[in-house]
Amino acid sequence: MKIKMILPALTEAVSPYFRPIKYSLFPPLGLMTLAAYLDETDKVEIQDEHVQKLNLDDKPDLVVIEVYITSATRAYQIADHYRCKGVYVCLGGLHVTTLPKEAALHADTIFLGPGEDTWPEFLQDFRSGLPKRRYQSTQRTLLGQPAPRRDLIDRRRYLAPNSMVVSRGCPYKCGFCYKESFFRHGKGFYTMDVDDALAQIDQLPGRHVFFLDDNLFGNTDFAQQLFAGMRGMGRIWQAAATVKAVFDQPLLDQAVRSGLRSLFIGFETQNANNLYSARKFHNLNLDYNEAVRRLHDRGIMINASFVFGLDEDDETVFERTVDWALHQGIETATFHILTPYPGTGLYRRFRREGRILTKNWDRYDTRHVVFAPAGMKPQKLEAGYWKSYEQFYRWSGIIRSAGAKKTIPARLRHIMYSGAWKKLEPFWNLIIHAGLLGRMVPLLETILTGFGQYPSCIENKTCEILKTIPKQSKPAPKLIYGTISQSPVRTYAENI
Ligand code: SF4
Repeated sequence: MKIKMILPALTEAVSPYFRPIKYSLFPPLGLMTLAAYLDETDKVEIQDEHVQKLNLDDKPDLVVIEVYITSATRAYQIADHYRCKGVYVCLGGLHVTTLPKEAALHADTIFLGPGEDTWPEFLQDFRSGLPKRRYQSTQRTLLGQPAPRRDLIDRRRYLAPNSMVVSRGCPYKCGFCYKESFFRHGKGFYTMDVDDALAQIDQLPGRHVFFLDDNLFGNTDFAQQLFAGMRGMGRIWQAAATVKAVFDQPLLDQAVRSGLRSLFIGFETQNANNLYSARKFHNLNLDYNEAVRRLHDRGIMINASFVFGLDEDDETVFERTVDWALHQGIETATFHILTPYPGTGLYRRFRREGRILTKNWDRYDTRHVVFAPAGMKPQKLEAGYWKSYEQFYRWSGIIRSAGAKKTIPARLRHIMYSGAWKKLEPFWNLIIHAGLLGRMVPLLETILTGFGQYPSCIENKTCEILKTIPKQSKPAPKLIYGTISQSPVRTYAENI
């Protein structure tokens, strides 16, 4: 059987002139995992439109397309194209699970939820000529799951080809998170067998590993065993975690000893009422300043996530947030405009309140305002979002942020990393077009390795330029975290 698997891209990601680096980070791990269930006699090909031009002239027996909300329009175009040619088309992924009726118009079979139970069942049905129209995942387990088919991707096209997922979902239930609808009808958080995870990590070439788990620290026992097993492997790794996880000091230390160098942390908002209404209860009453200090003291770089447009946000939120992040010396920041994804509690609430402004899914990319904000006009929210990026990543911002670091080498690494991420887009564009992205992986490893060291060479008088970077002298911006203000707080039930 000939199978083609496709990850469609956003329009922006396929421009022949300019390719943002963020679309060339990770290979399509989900499709690589599905491919691992196929027979040896099957011929399978994976095409990722983010990094290559799709060839749509072929006629395989089966086309499988992974659909995200922002690529849904493109995914449906490709699906319709193949169906017109008589090819059997399967659609799955977050958007399909959320809006199955919409997706079913463009598919022969749709998959709801994760595919580890339904995909093998479908393959059996398809081979016997009796595939169903819809498969709903209910039996969730990663035990015995085959390793992703890494041989099907061209590693040189990605900056982080060693991406991995060792768990699915997350134990929390934030109101704006996609996971609620995707994992309905079964377990919402489960992990691999630790030995299997370690065996897969051991097989990866190079040193760098990027865990794409929603919350790698979500199961403490599992995380402890994983980090203990990774110690001594010589890996350096990046992942995502909650602010709360940072306060589990023994676990954090274990992670560092196993090679943790950078964490994506969901700070989201500094306003306790916003945290409460977003059902992000696990961030309440936590000292964000202390969380940053603990991470930086251990040489862990932070990619801080912030959400703008929550109900208590007004036009001052942008400057306050950026000011705080720069003062803390946060290396990279990801700002989002609050986005009510269909299927979430947030979407249902906004729909009830008549606040959904558009159902054009292309705009549900966290860069456009798709709902009526409570504290400002949509235009102000969008403008504030862009301004935040501009202020955080302008050279003066990067240098101010680097000034929070204690040593000159640490400041230099900060400038190199933050600058490389946002200031060198034309350079990355050239590298991507030249097909040389894979050669940048050792450079990334070198920078990340440096973040994990504890240099005490501020007295080392070797670098005259860096000595001119001022240490921060402004007082820390005031935070509102941790306490519920006197304004009426919505009840939990009202936010569902
Ligand atoms: S902590 Fe992150 S992954 Fe978990 S539910 Fe909240 S937003 Fe989603």
